[in-house]
Amino acid sequence: MAAEYQMLIGGEWTGGSGSERLDSVNPYTQEVWATLPQAGDADVARAIEIAHDTYVSVWRGVNGRDRALMLNRLADLVEQNGPDLARIDTTDNGKVIRETGSQMKFAARNYRYFAGLADKLQGNTIPLDNGEMLDYTIVEPLGVAVLITAWNSPLPLLANKLAPALAAGNTVVIKPSEHASISTLAFGRLIAEAGFPDGVVNIVTGDGRIGPALTTHKRVKKISFTGGLPTARRILEAAARRLVPVTTELGGKSPNIIFEDADLKAAVNGAVAGIFGASGQTCIAGSRLLVQSSIYDEVCDRVLEKVRGIRLGNPLDPATEMGPVANRAQFDRILSLIAQAENEGAKLALGGRQATGPGLERGFFIEPTVLKDVEPSLTIARDEVFGPVLCILRFEDEADAVRIANDSDYGLAAGVWTNDVRRAHRMAREIEAGLVWVNTYRASYVGAPFGGTKLSGHGRERSWHTLMEYTQVKNVMLDLSGEDRDPFAMKL
Ligand code: NAD
Repeated sequence: MAAEYQMLIGGEWTGGSGSERLDSVNPYTQEVWATLPQAGDADVARAIEIAHDTYVSVWRGVNGRDRALMLNRLADLVEQNGPDLARIDTTDNGKVIRETGSQMKFAARNYRYFAGLADKLQGNTIPLDNGEMLDYTIVEPLGVAVLITAWNSPLPLLANKLAPALAAGNTVVIKPSEHASISTLAFGRLIAEAGFPDGVVNIVTGDGRIGPALTTHKRVKKISFTGGLPTARRILEAAARRLVPVTTELGGKSPNIIFEDADLKAAVNGAVAGIFGASGQTCIAGSRLLVQSSIYDEVCDRVLEKVRGIRLGNPLDPATEMGPVANRAQFDRILSLIAQAENEGAKLALGGRQATGPGLERGFFIEPTVLKDVEPSLTIARDEVFGPVLCILRFEDEADAVRIANDSDYGLAAGVWTNDVRRAHRMAREIEAGLVWVNTYRASYVGAPFGGTKLSGHGRERSWHTLMEYTQVKNVMLDLSGEDRDPFAMKL
């Protein structure tokens, strides 16, 4: 029997005004394990109005110390409930429990990090040329923020947005992906327990049909979106009507670059972590492995040996290294992109089909796939796959590596493997990406800014920089002189 979940609007759990419900499918069993409401436009409008009223009448008056206390309590609760929340995400999107378990620790750390900033949002005094004038700034919240997340990492993606939004004093309406909403709804139960007043955090569920109601409402002052490029374009078009600022965290085609002077054992491990961790369903996936010619064959052999050993299975089993992909649409799309790559001339070195075997009968399993001798012009080297598919490309020297790495519409992440410290810094400078890892990959810290450039989106999450995305600066200028001024000249 599928569990029935409700939305959180104004502190109440509700099925919404309509009767339509969506199924949440476990990608390991293909069974409907939970259902969620499809909100109507009226439900969305109600959630936004409540968030606005709460902002004006309650939340704006809560000081930074009290917001920090609530955020710290929330961090405690996410830590305590981490194992349950991890099991929910693993059941909902198929990510292995090893990954979702660490993701909950990351989410908790995010709330704690921004708790530490909630009472430090300070303006400054500006020394003017005119000593008879006083000038200072106030850092203010924006009001109602709409937070829209993708299915691949619901709670860490939410923490990237919710922690700074609340720390800065905004109220929010959250919309998780229809493919994996349940952990966000379970997390919603912790909000009241952490002490947040009703209406500060609201959660509506449903598919993209409610997008326009969320993104065009006049009370919305900020949108933060994690997802795909086509949806980002729709949201930006909608937001443009009211000039609402939008943070976009989108996809990638990140290069992971191995130079001949690298520690090859660590580099090969990093290459596998970059693309087969989380079945490649991460925006930062190192889906293009660039290998210097002189070590190309050796690295390919070593990567293939490691990938052959990847253990597929039940994502709830801590021994499993790769679970199913998250849903049927993902499964079909990934297989068709692999077929297209072969048609375009990529050499399939490993995998490429549905994975079969004991324990894999019912899930959306795809074999870990490696394509060799991939030309940078092929579709598979240009489009995001969002699955366990590694392209290995060849480069000659540093300039060639930079040229191939930057020959992409995307610019989210990059990895560089080298023992030459000068080269490491040169590469970090030259690569067009929001983050560059040297001699590591897919390492995270909540205090380090995260986000992309080019079609990977704009704006930053994590780190104190993010507070700027949820605040505005007000300037206040006072004349202390009491003197008569010339009304027809600018006062300096
Ligand atoms: P998606 O764009 O299909 O959906 C994302 C969210 O947008 C969902 O909640 C969806 O219901 C909602 N949505 C759909 N139509 C909408 C509309 N018109 N208005 C408002 N909201 C609408 O993306 P997805 O398939 O859930 O996620 C995969 C994508 O997310 C990949 O491209 C991946 O790279 C990207 N991603 C990026 C990051 C990052 O931080 N940069 C992290 C994770 C995933």
